Amino acid sequence: MAIPLRQTIRVGAYVIAQHLKGVRRYPLVLMLEPLFRCNLACAGCGKIDYPDAILNQRLSVDECIAAADECGAPMVVIAGGEPLLHREIDEIARRLIAKRKFVYLCTNALLLEKKLDLFEPSPYFAWTVHLDGDRDDHDRSVCQSGVYDRAVAAIKAAKARGFRVNINSTLFDTADPERIARFFDDVMDIGIDGITVSPGYAYERAPDQQHFLNRRRTKELFREIFRRDRGHCWSFNQSSLFLDFLAGNQSYRCTPWGNPTRNYFGWQRPCYLLGEGYARTFKELIEETDWDAYGTGNYEKCANCMVHSGYEATAVMDSVRNPLKAATVALRGIRTEGAMAPEIALDRQRPAEYVFSRHVEEAMARLGSRHEPAESVSRSR
Ligand code: SF4
Repeated sequence: MAIPLRQTIRVGAYVIAQHLKGVRRYPLVLMLEPLFRCNLACAGCGKIDYPDAILNQRLSVDECIAAADECGAPMVVIAGGEPLLHREIDEIARRLIAKRKFVYLCTNALLLEKKLDLFEPSPYFAWTVHLDGDRDDHDRSVCQSGVYDRAVAAIKAAKARGFRVNINSTLFDTADPERIARFFDDVMDIGIDGITVSPGYAYERAPDQQHFLNRRRTKELFREIFRRDRGHCWSFNQSSLFLDFLAGNQSYRCTPWGNPTRNYFGWQRPCYLLGEGYARTFKELIEETDWDAYGTGNYEKCANCMVHSGYEATAVMDSVRNPLKAATVALRGIRTEGAMAPEIALDRQRPAEYVFSRHVEEAMARLGSRHEPAESVSRSR
């Protein structure tokens, strides 16, 4: 596993402390989106389809740090948009690291080599480079040729400077297990520290709605992929039990509050994937969200979700409660044969509500009425 021991111990101690304190819902990873602007336009992305006035907004450094303080999660994933377009992204990372947060800075790597000098290697810091497969698969996924080669060159440059570098792969129904297996072999050869892998979530705002995976197909695909890791050579930056869940061996409910999301609109309700309203504070998010209204089996939009931002927290909490089970899976590898764990019934889920543009309309009205000067994109590059 690619998760450093220091992080495993700190996060394990944090989970145990929350249990001892009797905290029912607590966060593990803050998903921080300091901006939505991106320098790519991927077909499966549901994060960047906003009007320019919103794409031009940024969370300030102080707002980012306040979000980390407010929720208290030990890990922070900086996502977006493309975080390297934020002109103060280095300051955001530096101040989070100073608070001993484990910071993962997600990037498509187009600006990575240019910005490397702004960062320093740290045991609290890792790059997470978006790579959805080999050269053909990735360039198709991001709808632009040449991106894979630039990302690989940037990964090598970051590794040469002593940074920890992971990749983040989102798989769709077009994924071919053999090619994905070869791709994982290739990125391990390049020298990356870890792989984060997840099925894509069918974002309402994503332009391509046709290629998202359903749960059965997801489990079959991951069994096909994991079967090909014959020498257990792939190093995953994820818990063994989450990978076991992807392969259909665990019946988990999601933990949407485990990865709370803070962006320009506020604290996203209920999770990183679904935006069905926003809370002004983290406390309000935790205390006033109707959590039972969400999750697979409860809500139609959750029916096919197996995404790491929803289920990794469930797997980590299970690992802390059942360390022997987690260790057994880690040592023996993921089971890729035999019966799958029971699936959650969908017959009582409530139908989807289409509410995704309300917060956008409210924000546009707010921006218009206040005539706020939007920070120009060029200042952020
Ligand atoms: S299943 Fe859970 S994590 Fe997935 S979209 Fe629904 S609430 Fe979010």
